[in-house]
Amino acid sequence: MVAFEVAVNARRLPDAERAAVLTSPPGFGQVFTDHMVTLRWSRERGWHDGRLEPYGPFTLAPATSVFHYGQAIFEGMKAYRQDGGSIALFRPGANAERFNRSARRLAMPELPVDTFVEAIESLVARDRDWVPEGWGRSLYLRPFMIATQPGLGFTQPSSDYLFCVIASPVAPYFGPAGPRALTVWLCADYVRAAPGGTGAAKAAGNYAAAFVASRQAADEGCDQVVWLDAAEHAWVEEMGGMNLFFVYGGERPRLVTPALTGALLPGVTRDSLLTLARGLGMTAEEGRVSADQWRADCASGALTEVFACGTAAVVAPVGEVRGRTGGWRVGDGRPGPVTRRLHHALLSIQYGRKPDPFDWVHKV
Ligand code: PMP
Repeated sequence: MVAFEVAVNARRLPDAERAAVLTSPPGFGQVFTDHMVTLRWSRERGWHDGRLEPYGPFTLAPATSVFHYGQAIFEGMKAYRQDGGSIALFRPGANAERFNRSARRLAMPELPVDTFVEAIESLVARDRDWVPEGWGRSLYLRPFMIATQPGLGFTQPSSDYLFCVIASPVAPYFGPAGPRALTVWLCADYVRAAPGGTGAAKAAGNYAAAFVASRQAADEGCDQVVWLDAAEHAWVEEMGGMNLFFVYGGERPRLVTPALTGALLPGVTRDSLLTLARGLGMTAEEGRVSADQWRADCASGALTEVFACGTAAVVAPVGEVRGRTGGWRVGDGRPGPVTRRLHHALLSIQYGRKPDPFDWVHKV
């Protein structure tokens, strides 16, 4: 077990300024808390030198491996201030396990789940005054790991790594009025992930390769990119940094989300919503949805809602789809009742307003 030794206490903002940031955080991941956690790994020593230290820059040699060969992975999770003031994480063990799956794919060392969770807890406990109050506000946590061996040889993975956790208070992703329906771009020119690639890992390079498509989507007047499979450009995989759900409405709604083929990220929110939807009496399954089917089922009226989900935005309705061969509207183009119900059910557990039958909430 690694202890996170406290190096120095820092205070980066006067109380009044911090209070202003917490009331209205400026943009996603723009302001960071007073501290960060760092932990190092070397081939000889394994994990060592765990520290809770003031948030601040690293000094790294220009030849450091991560700058050249991109061995870098990360996670995204949140701490919530619940009614009554207690602070809770949501399924931190699920993020720890995904972090280790990403580490294995990138030939990086795994971090014991307990150490990962302890690192998060240490930072949140120390910077607890930075966890904002209010439905939808939270402290976004960003654990990441980079290869730190200096040298340009690339036949072997790095012999040294740095694990770090930083934290940033965030507002509701889509503003206080709640999520508005998004317009999405079906991306036919680029692929995010191929069979055998890194799509199921939270590898930094996946995001680097996606920016060009996000820019194209923005140029086409869309909010987000929808990724299609690499082989046929036919099957829907996921959307930007979120997973997708297709809702066939009616008396007993049926939800379908693309199955985990290895090319998409297994979202913690996706997994939680599959469970929550079933608990609410809906049918929720993993399957295959093609872009053509999406269009045909919207035209016939069978497909009534589509939403995306992820830690940052929670649940975001999709109102319109555009692509090279035209576009269409989903339902009436506005957030639908199943989307709103699931969004509310998830937030209610995260903010401690409803019982947590699945033991997802982890108090700090
Ligand atoms: N897909 C991708 C590509 C993502 O980056 C994310 C965000 N981590 C998700 C899906 C949603 O995952 P989660 O629900 O765990 O945030």
